[in-house]
Amino acid sequence: MSQTAKDIRETLGLRPVINVSGTMTFLGASIIVPEAIEAMSRLMPQFVEMPALHELASHTIARLTGAEAGFVTASCAAGLTLTVAAAMCGFDLAAIERLPDTTGLKNEVVMQMGHMVNYGAPVEQGVRLSGAKVVPVGQATSAHAYQLEGAITDRTAAALYVVSHHAVAYGQIPLETFCGVAHARGVPVIVDAASEYDLRDFLRAGADIVIYSAHKFLGGPTGGIVAGLKPLVRATYLQNRGIGRGMKVGKESIIGTIAALEAWEKRDHAAVRAREQKALDCWLAALEGRPGIHAFVEPDPTHNPLDRLRVQVNPAEARITAWDLADQLATGHQPVIVRDHEAEHGYFYLDPCNLHPGQEEIVAVRLGEELEKARASNSPLVTPFAERFKRKEAGALGWLA
Ligand SMILES: *Cc1c(COP(=O)(O)O)cnc(C)c1O
Repeated sequence: MSQTAKDIRETLGLRPVINVSGTMTFLGASIIVPEAIEAMSRLMPQFVEMPALHELASHTIARLTGAEAGFVTASCAAGLTLTVAAAMCGFDLAAIERLPDTTGLKNEVVMQMGHMVNYGAPVEQGVRLSGAKVVPVGQATSAHAYQLEGAITDRTAAALYVVSHHAVAYGQIPLETFCGVAHARGVPVIVDAASEYDLRDFLRAGADIVIYSAHKFLGGPTGGIVAGLKPLVRATYLQNRGIGRGMKVGKESIIGTIAALEAWEKRDHAAVRAREQKALDCWLAALEGRPGIHAFVEPDPTHNPLDRLRVQVNPAEARITAWDLADQLATGHQPVIVRDHEAEHGYFYLDPCNLHPGQEEIVAVRLGEELEKARASNSPLVTPFAERFKRKEAGALGWLA
C-alpha cells in the first residue's frame, strides 16, 4: 500500500508507522489478509446462527491442524483462560457459572518457571483469571521431569506449556517429555503457541490443546484459535456461558479467522520468504561499512521459517547506542519501529514479516540518516538504559493524563 492521501491514518492524524518489529499488539498486530477482510465485510451486515458459525470454524481448524475440533476465541490470551477454565469445569454448567470460584473443582495448573513470560501481560495471570492457581515447576533456567511429576497432585486440572521467544531457551523440559509425564497422571496439556507458524507439530508431540493467535502470522483479525481434543474444545465453548462472555468473539472475527486459515493454506510461502530475504539484503547493503555497526541475519529463536536482521551497535564508534538508535528511528513523521526487546545488550532486530512493498527502502534510508546524524554530532547519544524503562512506564501512565 502506498502512503497516499487515501491512507486513513493521515486523515485521522495518526502517524503512519512502519513496522519492522514483528507482530506486535501495540502496533495493531499484523497486516490482515485481503481474504479475511472480504469475508468479514460480507458477514458483518448479516445475522447468523452463531453455534453453526462456530461449528464451521471448528471444521476448518480441525482440517488445518489435524485436531479433533477447534474453537475461535477473542485472543490467544482469552484462549488460555478459557481452556484452563474448561479443564476445571468440563460440561458442568453450574460450575461454569460459579467461576472464578473454583470450590470443589481441581484448580491447579502446573507450568515451568522458565515459561512464565510476559507477552504484554503475564502469562500466569491468564491462568489465574479463570480462578485457577498456578503451581510453578523448577527454577527459572532449569526444570526436570521429576519436578513436574512432583508438582502434579489430585488437584491438578491442567499442565501449561509455553512456546515463545520470551521463554527461557535452555534447561526446559521438552514438550514430548512434558506430555508423557502429564498424561501418565491423566492431566491434559495446553500449549500456548501464539506466534508459532506450525499448525500441526505440537498436537503431534502430544498436546491436548494448542492455542494460536489469529492476528499474528496468519494475518487474521484479532482472535485466538483453540485446537485439540473434542471434549476439551466443547468444554471451552461452554465457557461462553460464564467467564467467556467478557472475552466474547464476534461473527466478524470468526469468519475472518476461517478465511485467514484458508488463505494460509494457499499462501505461496516461498514467495513470502523471498520477499523477506529481499528486505534483509536491502538493509544489509545499507548498513555495510557503517562505523560501529555489525549486522547479520539470524534465524527465529523458536524455529519459525523467518529470519531477522540483527543490528549490533558499538556506541564508541557509531556514537549512538542501540536503544537510542531505536528511539531515534521511532521519531518523526513516519516512525520506524524496530524489534528492541533485547536492546540493553547493544542490538536490535529488523523484522521483515510485516512490511508493505517498498517500505524496506524507507527503513534503509532512515537507518542511514540516523547513523550519519549520530556520527556528525558533537556529543554521542548515549542515554542510560535504566532511564528508558522509566520513560516507557511514564508513557503508559501518561496516556490521556
Ligand atoms: C502474543 C502472545 C500471546 C497473546 O496472544 P493474543 O492473541 O494477542 O492474546 C500469548 N502467548 C504468547 C507466547 C504470545 O506470544
